[in-house]
Amino acid sequence: MNAPTPPRDLWHARAADLLARGIDGRLLIDGKRYHAADGSLFDCISPIDGKVIARVARGKQADVDLAVASARAAFADRRWAGQSPAARKKVLLAFAERIRAARDELALLETLDMGKPIKNSLSADVPGTARCIQWYAEAVDKVYDEIAPTGEDALALIRREPVGVVGAIVPWNYPMLMASWKLGPALAAGNSVVLKPSEKSPLTALRLAELALDAGLPEGVFNVVPGYGHEAGEALALHMGVDAIGFTGSTRTGRRMLEYSSRSNLKRVYNELGGKSANVVFADFDDLDRAAQTAAASMFYNQGESCNAPSRLLVQDDIADAFVAKLGSLVPQYAPADPLDPGTTLGALVDENQTQTVMGYIRAGIDEGARCVAGGCRALEATGGQYVAPTVFDNVSNRMKIAQEEIFGPVLAVIRFKTEAEAIAIANDSAYGLHAGLWTRNLDRAVRVSRALHAGTIHVNQYDEDDITVPFGGVKQSGNGRDKSLHAFDKYTELKTTWMRIEAA
Ligand code: NAD
Repeated sequence: MNAPTPPRDLWHARAADLLARGIDGRLLIDGKRYHAADGSLFDCISPIDGKVIARVARGKQADVDLAVASARAAFADRRWAGQSPAARKKVLLAFAERIRAARDELALLETLDMGKPIKNSLSADVPGTARCIQWYAEAVDKVYDEIAPTGEDALALIRREPVGVVGAIVPWNYPMLMASWKLGPALAAGNSVVLKPSEKSPLTALRLAELALDAGLPEGVFNVVPGYGHEAGEALALHMGVDAIGFTGSTRTGRRMLEYSSRSNLKRVYNELGGKSANVVFADFDDLDRAAQTAAASMFYNQGESCNAPSRLLVQDDIADAFVAKLGSLVPQYAPADPLDPGTTLGALVDENQTQTVMGYIRAGIDEGARCVAGGCRALEATGGQYVAPTVFDNVSNRMKIAQEEIFGPVLAVIRFKTEAEAIAIANDSAYGLHAGLWTRNLDRAVRVSRALHAGTIHVNQYDEDDITVPFGGVKQSGNGRDKSLHAFDKYTELKTTWMRIEAA
């Protein structure tokens, strides 16, 4: 049994202790810590209270060059790729164990850095990261290559080989977890990696790389270059020495990734991008309490900063008034509070920019005539942190800005509909296609609608199932490729065919 989570004061004391000891924000390249080549730094500001918690190396072209050279050298001499799958598995299992052992420290870093509740960092982000690394470790010596069905006079082997150097560029909403979705399959397959964490949440990436070294991952196989997108990110994605980019982030930046590829070496680009997922509640569903609780919980989890948040709630006319009332009664459970308090459900948004963006969308919703039935304002301003009250808009039209654009904050748009066909049309009327949900007791409708919805994942009568065993990714402008599951190996391996002629005896 797990020990009980320590109370708020203990987490504040731990945070004070961590900050007093100081956080090492230097780059990690070839197993060593370095200052940026030009010595520049950026401030890492906690959205909990607006205080600077670390000064982090601001990687640029020269640093990325060094990291890519280190990754290339590690790949070329086969210090990792040349190890047997069983040997790689052993190291990655040790890595997963070290992540588990560092649970409290990693959770604290994540929460201080980007504002999510400590409860979630402890129960979801750290264990999810460890499980991801463990799962790919366990998978790698169970994946077989292929022999093609040729005739007697030939043998054709189809082998999966690592692509080489993988550039992983990740966002700030689940910093560790998103990194692990790239690291797990890329490292297990034998690649070398250069990870560029978001400038808004660089701390856990650096710590993860230290833990990997400690677990026995050879130097140079996993390098971390923090920095800004237009500097370190652009240098990595344009680099001629990078063979594939695993990108998670906004659709705007995903577009750039494709440009960088075409302007450089046509490296493979796998984009995991934004979403505006529809969650459709039909009047025939008989447990509207559970549907409302799930709609609110999935929307406000992680402050609404989730790519797959069900931010468009489509409710059938007959039940809409009652459903919106239920939602309204649930909203107070998600009042923002101190992220270091283990009782907190909704923490701080990542930074002032994000708060301003979210508040801009709230103003746009009001201006366009939607009815704000909960929230709509900042909260806890005296803390100096970034808090926005969970917000629900009713009477939203799907053409409004708050229904078409990804807000990435705790703002839910309720859209009313009359018929199944209308619901499908509204749900699919989006540039995005990441997730979608539907609630019905009618089996035919469940199958019909889940087939008609254009998204990478469909949820029926739930919205919270998730596991490393299933692929995660979207269609349309939500991206391509899939993270998680065995399918993620497709992104970090090349298929190589070897033909052999077999002479008759
Ligand atoms: P972002 O696109 O601003 O940044 C993501 C990463 O790209 C960061 O590391 C950033 O520094 C880097 N970057 C930014 N500009 C760059 C440039 N010009 N060149 C190279 N790199 C650059 O996204 P964000 O605000 O960090 O993250 C939020 C977005 O991520 C949302 O749209 C969300 O939906 C999406 N997301 C998607 C998934 C998924 O699996 N589909 C998961 C999590 C988040």
